[in-house]
Amino acid sequence: MPTESTGLLKNKVALVTGGASGIGRATAVLFAQEGASVVVADLKADEGTEVEKQIVGSGGQALFLEANVSRREDSERIAERIERQFGSVHVVFNNAGIIRRATVLELFEADWDLVMSVNVKSIYLVSRHLIPLMVKSGGGSIINTASGWGLAGGPRAAVYCASKGAVVLLTKAMAIDHGPQNIRVNCICPGDTDTNMLRSEAQQMGESNESFMQEAARRPLGRVGRPEDIARAALYLASDASSFVTGSALVVDGGGLAGTM
Ligand code: NAD
Repeated sequence: MPTESTGLLKNKVALVTGGASGIGRATAVLFAQEGASVVVADLKADEGTEVEKQIVGSGGQALFLEANVSRREDSERIAERIERQFGSVHVVFNNAGIIRRATVLELFEADWDLVMSVNVKSIYLVSRHLIPLMVKSGGGSIINTASGWGLAGGPRAAVYCASKGAVVLLTKAMAIDHGPQNIRVNCICPGDTDTNMLRSEAQQMGESNESFMQEAARRPLGRVGRPEDIARAALYLASDASSFVTGSALVVDGGGLAGTM
């Protein structure tokens, strides 16, 4: 991980949803290091405030907003606050997400609704409220967090796979609609990455963390991802380094989807 800033996001305003932990947190920190003013939106107030403090403590600009991004009112409030405080937005990282490991037979209807609402509807809501400001700002980059399981199925992950598959095609549809407004829309498909979500999966599958991680590391690069691996992909998609990239699903998974080993 580079410690020196290369200023790739200088003078940019970036929103990171689910930025209080894991991939979102690492990305918020990296975006701030690269010069962006970063707004972190998350359900978790303590962790979110910590991220804000960490960024401000190292000389960056950050604002934490406690929000449930699957609620329309909260998405509206985020957009209003960003407009009032910063006057523009250039990067939106729609990253908040949850997982339920279950087959359709095991899954409760309420969990179906919850996962679809957090993983898919939040992208619609946040984008709907932020795109007008992004247009006024001259355009920008929207990055959605999908998953390797948005491109291939996995066991006991029915609603998660359904939601992430939806994110991949929502991304492509948005890229078509908003390209003419100078807005690029891409998604990242991470493989297993060492975050709270992966630990929650081990628990949901009734496995020890250790054996779950060992299994997850069985891929060409022989390890699970680190949040920073995904953050660097987000930085690429957020910055002008990817100026002709839109509608793409960038797989960042240590080769997990490359084929059978
Ligand atoms: P994480 O649990 O560490 O972080 C997710 C964050 O989203 C948490 O801080 C949580 O509070 C927040 N969040 C959840 N629901 C929210 C809501 N309604 N409103 C606002 N914030 C909310 O997990 P992570 O692994 O960093 O997950 C980030 C994204 O990466 C998710 O979309 C996830 O599906 C995706 N992903 C993760 C992996 C992995 O192996 N960790 C693999 C593929 C994709």
